[in-house]
Amino acid sequence: MPRFLLLSSAVLLFAFCKNNATPDSPAQRPAYAIAIHGGAGTIRKSDMTPEQETGYRAALDTALTIGETILKNGGIALDAVTATIAYLEDNPLFNAGRGAVFTHEGRNEHDASIMDGSNQMAGAVGGVSIVKHPILLARAIMEKSPHVMLSGRGAEQFAIENGLDTVAPSWFFTQRRWDSLQKVLEKEKAQQPQGLIKPTGFKDQKFGTVGCVVLDKNGNLAAGTSTGGMTNKRWNRLGDTPVIGAGTYASNDGCAVSCTGHGEFFIRYAVAHDVWAHMVYGGLSLEDAANQIVMQKLVEKGGEGGLIAVDKNGNIAMPFNSEGMYRGYAKPGERQVLIFRGL
Ligand code: ASP
Repeated sequence: MPRFLLLSSAVLLFAFCKNNATPDSPAQRPAYAIAIHGGAGTIRKSDMTPEQETGYRAALDTALTIGETILKNGGIALDAVTATIAYLEDNPLFNAGRGAVFTHEGRNEHDASIMDGSNQMAGAVGGVSIVKHPILLARAIMEKSPHVMLSGRGAEQFAIENGLDTVAPSWFFTQRRWDSLQKVLEKEKAQQPQGLIKPTGFKDQKFGTVGCVVLDKNGNLAAGTSTGGMTNKRWNRLGDTPVIGAGTYASNDGCAVSCTGHGEFFIRYAVAHDVWAHMVYGGLSLEDAANQIVMQKLVEKGGEGGLIAVDKNGNIAMPFNSEGMYRGYAKPGERQVLIFRGL
């Protein structure tokens, strides 16, 4: 083979491997990276008291610390994701676990998913009402069942059989979310007095879903997301959160992604997977891939929300097209907690 051909094949092969191989060398990436979100939506500084803002910032900070401590101590990405999300599920400020929004019928139905970027294993659960930590159920489904996605009664049965904590459905009740449902129902009644066919309450929502994406010291990526869905959802509606590739995705050759927003749009455009695909197939940086999808495609289509993502080199992106997104990230020597644009 002529020398120039040999040389150019070698260059091409190197470029291909570099783009597609599992994590770049440890020297090129931070020891760990973690990003979290507590939902996006109509979140305005003017609508919040200073105490509320402080409460949110403190909760995000605590969540970051939980994940970061695990990573600093050499823990694995999946453990950081589940522990961080379990804390956010327990915190009534967020629409996941305790503090979840209510369905049209006044129930809490939880969805969650998790993905291990090192082996493409994934677990997801939809529509459970008695499982204290839906994210732990998603992980158990991934690790202890032959399936990826379970729902409703069967998923609850699986949780019980696997010794996960269960609680009375009333454990998830918060007055604030109940009042939000009543407001939406009143509005709906005023608009459609003849009987309700089409729920109208999806405007101006605060999508308080929680999520976490992580790069650990071994170069493994993982992503998880947990939610109560959207206020006034009905007919056992499932959003993007339990749909692998829509609300959650992770693969060590690209990135880990967790989404929040109007789930129907995130399902239609397979948002989490699309970020990965734009990186790995399209050659875009994480930031360009995430921005292109959230700030261009979703905006064009009318899909409100945002996402957090970390790539195999520890880069982090947290774009959102709504007014605000509860979010934060940490890497060695860097840490930020933000709610509004730039703040
Ligand atoms: N994406 C979630 C859903 O559609 C809602 C949220 O992000 O808060 O169920």
